[in-house]
Amino acid sequence: MTEIATIQNSFDVYAIREQFPILNREVKGKRLVYFDNAATSQKPQIVIDALSNYYSNHNANIHRGIHTLAEEATAAFEKTRDTAQQFIHAATREQIIFTRGTTEGINLVAYTWGRQNIKAGDEIMISTMEHHSNIVPWQVLCEEKNAILKIIPISDDGELLMDDFERLLSPKTKLVSIVHVSNSLGTVNPVERIIDAAHKVGAVVMVDGAQSTVHLDIDVQKMDCDFFAFSAHKLYGPTGVGVLYGKKDLLESMPVFQGGGEMIKEVTFEKTTFNDLPYKFEAGTPNIADTVAFKSALDFVSRTGKSKIRAHENELLQYATSQLEQIPGLKIIGKAKEKTSLVSFIIDKTHPQDIGILLDNRGIAVRTGHHCTQPLMNRFGIPGTVRASFSLYNTKEEIDELIIGLQKAVKMLA
Ligand code: PMP
Repeated sequence: MTEIATIQNSFDVYAIREQFPILNREVKGKRLVYFDNAATSQKPQIVIDALSNYYSNHNANIHRGIHTLAEEATAAFEKTRDTAQQFIHAATREQIIFTRGTTEGINLVAYTWGRQNIKAGDEIMISTMEHHSNIVPWQVLCEEKNAILKIIPISDDGELLMDDFERLLSPKTKLVSIVHVSNSLGTVNPVERIIDAAHKVGAVVMVDGAQSTVHLDIDVQKMDCDFFAFSAHKLYGPTGVGVLYGKKDLLESMPVFQGGGEMIKEVTFEKTTFNDLPYKFEAGTPNIADTVAFKSALDFVSRTGKSKIRAHENELLQYATSQLEQIPGLKIIGKAKEKTSLVSFIIDKTHPQDIGILLDNRGIAVRTGHHCTQPLMNRFGIPGTVRASFSLYNTKEEIDELIIGLQKAVKMLA
């Protein structure tokens, strides 16, 4: 291997950081330390340039246009669909439906497949560690249909109790909707085992991939999930774009979600015929610019290499965990054996929000509160946690700054 090839293949966090302009800014007179990646990741220059290039050179409404700009915009938009298909290993591009994000993907399934298939007495199963966006749509559906929401319990370490899950399954279970990676605990759930067991009782499985797609290799065919939803903004892409993947027969049999332009074949006042997949579920002018730029984010991750990113992030997780454990009174919430790179914790005699404010004064961005998982916080009997979530551009030196910031905060508050 030549020297240049060696350099290109190694993971250089400082070279990566140079690609993220926001990491150079200061907050409260200190260089930004960004540890709120599970809420949204920062964007590399290539994504910012793609957005600006789209508006500067190609902007037009897509599909049906015969002029040059319309054709260019359509081609760029549809290229992202191909890239997303490859990224999650979907069998066909028609199974990639663009949404506003994970939340809209889950709601789309609840409002279409759910309304069509869930009847009184049916059971929908979710887990204790779900994000509100994977709770509320199913609650609304259960109320409307007189169906029952069942909850998979978790252990004190934040792992699903799989025996209980298997006991809860029955022919009444029509849907299992499960988070792949918990945004509050970092737990990686054994989705393949869940999907296999659910399929044996004839249930359909939806996977919330909001937190997993940035860290893990996703192969929806191998996983055999029926639906999978994720958001671009947690994957170094723009806000306002996401993907819903579904098995083709399910997507084809589902009623439409929103009505409007794009999702039709022919409209008369008597009757409308609907478009083919994926356009059947993409009513109206989509978020074209952000979808176009999303391709650059997916290419950035693929070029960098997920396994290298994962190795770096795991190192940060191990380092942060061992350092945090030295702080007296600090308790880590979420100690699953399989975890992605985030640490949630509470500290005796302190409130997470106060810790967050004191860290912000040092330029360190963490998230505090319930992280849109209130039932999970209730399970642990706490109002919230401090959550530091790490990304490919974070460093051990930044973790050292977090530890110093926490030590000082504890001295002030405790
Ligand atoms: N599920 C999980 C596990 C999440 O972390 C999030 C975002 N915090 C969502 C769903 C919702 O994603 P979005 O807000 O992008 O729709």
